[in-house]
Amino acid sequence: MRVYNVLHRKKEEFVPQEKNKVKMYVCGMTVNGEPHLGHARQVITFDMIAQYLRFKGYDVIYASNYTDIDDRIINQAKELNITPIELADKRIAIIEDVWNKISVSQPNYKPRVTKFIPQIIDFVSDLIAKGYAYSTDNGDVYFSVKKYHGYGSLSNRKIDELKNSVRIESADNKQDALDFALWKAVDANEFGFMSPWGKGRPGWHIECSTMIKSILGNTIDIHGGGKDLIFPHHENELAQSTCENNAPLAKYWIHNGLITVDGQKMSKSFKNFVLVKDVLVKYDPEVLRYAVLVNHYTSTLDMGDNSFKQAEKNLYYFYNVIKNIELARKDTNDDYDESVLNLFTECMDDDFNSAKFIAELFSMFSKLGKYDNYKQLNSIMYAIDKVKNILGIFRYDADEFIYKIKQKYLKELNVNEEYIDSKINQRLMAKQEKNYVLADEIRNELLSLGIMLKDSKDKTTWDINQLY
Ligand SMILES: [Zn+2]
Repeated sequence: MRVYNVLHRKKEEFVPQEKNKVKMYVCGMTVNGEPHLGHARQVITFDMIAQYLRFKGYDVIYASNYTDIDDRIINQAKELNITPIELADKRIAIIEDVWNKISVSQPNYKPRVTKFIPQIIDFVSDLIAKGYAYSTDNGDVYFSVKKYHGYGSLSNRKIDELKNSVRIESADNKQDALDFALWKAVDANEFGFMSPWGKGRPGWHIECSTMIKSILGNTIDIHGGGKDLIFPHHENELAQSTCENNAPLAKYWIHNGLITVDGQKMSKSFKNFVLVKDVLVKYDPEVLRYAVLVNHYTSTLDMGDNSFKQAEKNLYYFYNVIKNIELARKDTNDDYDESVLNLFTECMDDDFNSAKFIAELFSMFSKLGKYDNYKQLNSIMYAIDKVKNILGIFRYDADEFIYKIKQKYLKELNVNEEYIDSKINQRLMAKQEKNYVLADEIRNELLSLGIMLKDSKDKTTWDINQLY
């Protein structure tokens, strides 16, 4: 199995430290808002990775944190007249509800920064004692970047280049512009924790380093997150953990690509953050998972409405073929082989290439012809039964999914199913009377409403035209 290791900027053979065991940590959400598509892509990606590693026989210990305190959470809580911790509790419940809806399995550990303050203080104290960090007169503590010679290795940046790009803020009293905060002092009346440096709150980077050390140990197998976290967040985590532990923080660094919406980067300044809950009003959760996994996890992914429409159409096609397969293999022997499953593991063993597998499946489906190669049909269904729990797609009964999507479109098109049936009957009668002009008129009328008719030997069925 090979994975792209961002640390070495190449694909490498995946060999965890302990045989059959994988320790994985992924930076989780700061709970100052609801999950958007960027969060969804990350949790779906690492859920797929965890599930695939489990399928391969690894005992995966997966931890992902919640940053449950920051300035925005504090201000939002003030407005609601509740404590920041109460607000965080509510948010986490909302977030987990969204992840449940899109079938994301929960990590084994979901640590919250406010529960790790003593460990963070120990970590920071250690870094000061070892000479890697310093406190200032006002009670801040900074990591001294120039003391760690490996700085920039993860993000492939040179310290001199970084110096030119860093803006020096006037309020900062750090020794060097590149130094970053491990602990920030707060005023006596602000939310904070007591520490050897006075009242304050931990910096963002130190929480992940501390929680990884406390829960998983000095060196983990996989550290994950979105590409936007490589610098400075992961670079800083790597620096402080390496200095504290005198050991590498992670063997493999894996980062998912970013999201655009209709070609534009998703960001606060563009005000184009799309919330997962808003997508789920319009689309089935499997459509969202499909839209993510039909692309390789490292690619930049456009998640405008068109990408969901296309995903819905493709998934509808897949389910229709699955339905045909199920009908065709009824009453036949159950002879099968692992060829289709092997195709899946081949794709996934090559840096979790779910995109390649879905494309291969698409091409296989398009060549099924008369659905009479029963061994192949059985082998496909054997593979799908395993794949559905790893990718989180193809989990519906085919009829149920098809029915659901058809009903959704009927509602959108404002067409009544009984009306379609009555028109089909009228057309049948017209054909029996050899009134082909009327029969064609009826077909065209339905088509103008968005409904297409499909004639087979013994009956006429209808479908949604847009889905073809
Ligand atoms: Zn982190």
